[in-house]
Amino acid sequence: PPPVLEISGLCVDYGLGADAVRAVHDVDLTLRRGEVLGLAGESGSGKSTLAYAVTRLLSPPGVITGGDVRYHPRGGEPVDVLAMTARELRAFRWQEVSIVFQGAMNSLNPVHTVHTQLTDVLKAHRPDMPRAGRTEQARELLSLVGISPDRLGAYPHQLSGGMRQRVMIAMALALQPDVVIMDEPTTALDVVMQRQILRQLVRLREELDFSVVFITHDISLLIEFSDRIAIMYGGRVVEQAGAAEIYRDPRHPYSAGLLHSFPALHGPRRELTGIPGSPPDLRAMPSGCAFHPRCPKAFAPCDRKTPPLAPADSSSGRSVACWLNDDHRPGEA
Ligand code: SF4
Ligand code: MG
Repeated sequence: PPPVLEISGLCVDYGLGADAVRAVHDVDLTLRRGEVLGLAGESGSGKSTLAYAVTRLLSPPGVITGGDVRYHPRGGEPVDVLAMTARELRAFRWQEVSIVFQGAMNSLNPVHTVHTQLTDVLKAHRPDMPRAGRTEQARELLSLVGISPDRLGAYPHQLSGGMRQRVMIAMALALQPDVVIMDEPTTALDVVMQRQILRQLVRLREELDFSVVFITHDISLLIEFSDRIAIMYGGRVVEQAGAAEIYRDPRHPYSAGLLHSFPALHGPRRELTGIPGSPPDLRAMPSGCAFHPRCPKAFAPCDRKTPPLAPADSSSGRSVACWLNDDHRPGEA
């Protein structure tokens, strides 16, 4: 499938000049039409920063310091997202790319009904739509996410956490965007509810034909619901491959560590070992491969040279940033 969002060489810093720390480092990622791309990594790995940067929602001291973000509209020329004006951005967000934030279920306005909040989105972006049409569409959106349209008159406090989260997803889908970015969308919910909501979202994606960037620290959810997974560490993508490939055969030692930090949903039980040590401090990034102080497989070049993200299997489109990746051993230096 053709690309819908293309990120290349993206760099994001917090702060400027000598105090700047790099939170996203030279990230290349392509989201294809209809695909669910999972973004995994511990907190502080740069996943949320990447999502904010791509939607131009980054606020100071966050600054995009390099790279390119291109949106490919259906049947149109690619658009440079980083060059959009404030006005273009208002149209871009919600209509082309929408985002459901971490803890979104608590961001509904407590004094307005679900009806008001859903129709306000429509009113802002589709001013010509008659009032009755907006209400009708709000009813449809609620049914899409599995809530009875009878609940349209409810206030947020009258809904469960899972329902509030579904309302947020309905709002994100209101203007039929091409891309929905979900940043830890279900983390506040119990596991059964999380999986129910995600299963529904994946079904809707088939029905409504949008792509999803799904961000979470829980790699077991990504394995189940994504087509492809990119794993981030210290602001860089360290492995990218099909979800099944990563599950069967993680190539980056950090990917393997993440997989062993969560219980498997299917298949044989694995021992949960987690990853010793803690994520790197952006202000004191380890030299060479940032993972080397925690890596059980670190060897000679690892603390001196940063491994590039390079193709690992010529056939599958997998890439890995690790010196164990045979084809890309550093020369003697
Ligand atoms: Fe471990 Fe070295 Fe690979 Fe980094 S490059 S993940 S330290 S083996
Ligand atoms: Mg985050």
